[in-house]
Amino acid sequence: MASQVTFIGAGNMASAIFGGMIDGGYPADAITATARDDNRLAPLRSRYGIHATTDNDAAVANADVVVLAVKPQVMRAVCEAMRDAVQTRKPLIVSVAAGLTAETLDDWLGGGLAVIRCMPNTPSLVGAGASGLYANARVSDDQRSLATTLLEAVGLVEWVDDEALLEAVTAVSGSGPAYFFLIFEALEDAGKRLGLPPQSARRLALQTAFGAARMAQQSEFDPAQLKRNVMSPGGTTERAIQSFEDGGLRQLFENATQACALRAREMA
Ligand code: NAD
Repeated sequence: MASQVTFIGAGNMASAIFGGMIDGGYPADAITATARDDNRLAPLRSRYGIHATTDNDAAVANADVVVLAVKPQVMRAVCEAMRDAVQTRKPLIVSVAAGLTAETLDDWLGGGLAVIRCMPNTPSLVGAGASGLYANARVSDDQRSLATTLLEAVGLVEWVDDEALLEAVTAVSGSGPAYFFLIFEALEDAGKRLGLPPQSARRLALQTAFGAARMAQQSEFDPAQLKRNVMSPGGTTERAIQSFEDGGLRQLFENATQACALRAREMA
């Protein structure tokens, strides 16, 4: 029988995950989601066929997994209010909230719990996410597999064995989509300045990014080799890459990811 999974908070991230689970064949009647008001829940019931309620305690009462998917600012109040229900059932806790440590969440929920912290990213909303996961010492192998299954419903899953590494995950994949959006924007603008119609510049830039990522994922070669494969000596690509290197692109990525990781540490 499928594990009973309850989502506390039925917003963008929660609906992306349970939507992906259901698309992948997970039984909708093993899924419950909660929100503050029923206006949000009625469409979820009819669209996905999941259980939906405004009563967090009732939703936790028969859960094997509780996914915490409310905003970080309200997390403490939400956790403390359902502490008794959680302590009665002791389900696996999976948090997708940015910046809240496993120990803090465990503490707010009364202690002694198996807690997994997940750093997802926004492409999860289109099923192409990348999530970093960390498990505290109470999480069993079966619970790890279950969490992997849940998060793989919206993309790729990578485990880290040190919670501090979630800051590095934030710097690479959590915030990473915005870096690529910036590059798309810059490439599109550059294409327009070279005379391309705006729509053509955007379509060519985006498809090139998509194609390069797909090729790099499928190739037996690493990205450095794939780059060399496009660069014939004295050719056009070599000239462009040299210009990026001369402009210090690698150092910019180093600086930006260090700044991001530092900010993640300050916010924890
Ligand atoms: P959202 O605002 O779309 O959803 C939050 C949901 O929580 C809403 O449905 C709201 O009704 C519900 N809620 C608020 N108080 C509640 C309560 N007391 N009981 C039950 N439900 C309650 O937010 P989101 O974008 O889905 O983000 C949720 C979490 O996911 C956040 O902690 C965020 O840090 C994390 N996250 C989101 C993204 C993303 O791409 N959206 C990426 C990484 C991490």
